[in-house]
Amino acid sequence: MRNAAIQCTRFVLALVLTLCVAACDSLVGPEFPSGNLVELQAPPEFTLWWSLVEQCSGRRGSLAAVQFFRTRDPMLIVDGKRYDGYWWSEGNRVALVTPEDGATVRHEMLHALLQRGDHAPEYFAGRCDGWIRFDHPGTFGVPASPEAAVVSGTDALRATLTTLPAAPRASEFRGAFVYLITAESVRTAPVWVPVTNGLLATVFVTGNPIGMGAVTTATRLFFAPSQRRQALIDARITDAGYIDVVGSYVGAATLPQRVEIAP
Ligand SMILES: [Zn+2]
Repeated sequence: MRNAAIQCTRFVLALVLTLCVAACDSLVGPEFPSGNLVELQAPPEFTLWWSLVEQCSGRRGSLAAVQFFRTRDPMLIVDGKRYDGYWWSEGNRVALVTPEDGATVRHEMLHALLQRGDHAPEYFAGRCDGWIRFDHPGTFGVPASPEAAVVSGTDALRATLTTLPAAPRASEFRGAFVYLITAESVRTAPVWVPVTNGLLATVFVTGNPIGMGAVTTATRLFFAPSQRRQALIDARITDAGYIDVVGSYVGAATLPQRVEIAP
């Protein structure tokens, strides 16, 4: 297990490096770098990711109304700044460097769903916390107590793992689904839970030392009694069968779980 943790950490660090530039937007007339963009037919997994953003935000909208583009270059520059993704209200257009990166795609989808380019905290840090790529203070939405005790995730949290859709299919969304990890504080007093190596949540398939992870820039997270936080981890499996997985949220492990991938 130690070996697994190290491999996962390496993976996470690599992810941090490639995603160190935030996906963001501005409000005033940003240029549309058409020379670097090619139109992208929304792949089947975008339907799943759009439904996830609808679910977390509680808003409904039309995916078909959004125009997607991907970059020719491995980077996206808008008004002199580098981005992983960008949404323009004009034309309801989204540009993506990596359309396979579900968390960033969902961030831009949330802009399109809300039809606003700012990061309304209610949605980006609140309702959709952990469902999209967005870093926010670990205290968002709760009256954090600076003097609260520091307690490890193992001792403070009960973590559970499910999938969305609940019954993934290899033939649906090109095999894409997400693991949803939910952590709930079991403490009767508020606590700070330290985050190690930026690792927010992980999923390991039994017998496979390479894990999948979600990262955060937070170094600790605040949990009020019974407070819940969530993280999505994207997966893609195109062969039907069973997999045994175990998840974790800032160190609190879920029970091992068998996931059936239907044909
Ligand atoms: Zn943004």
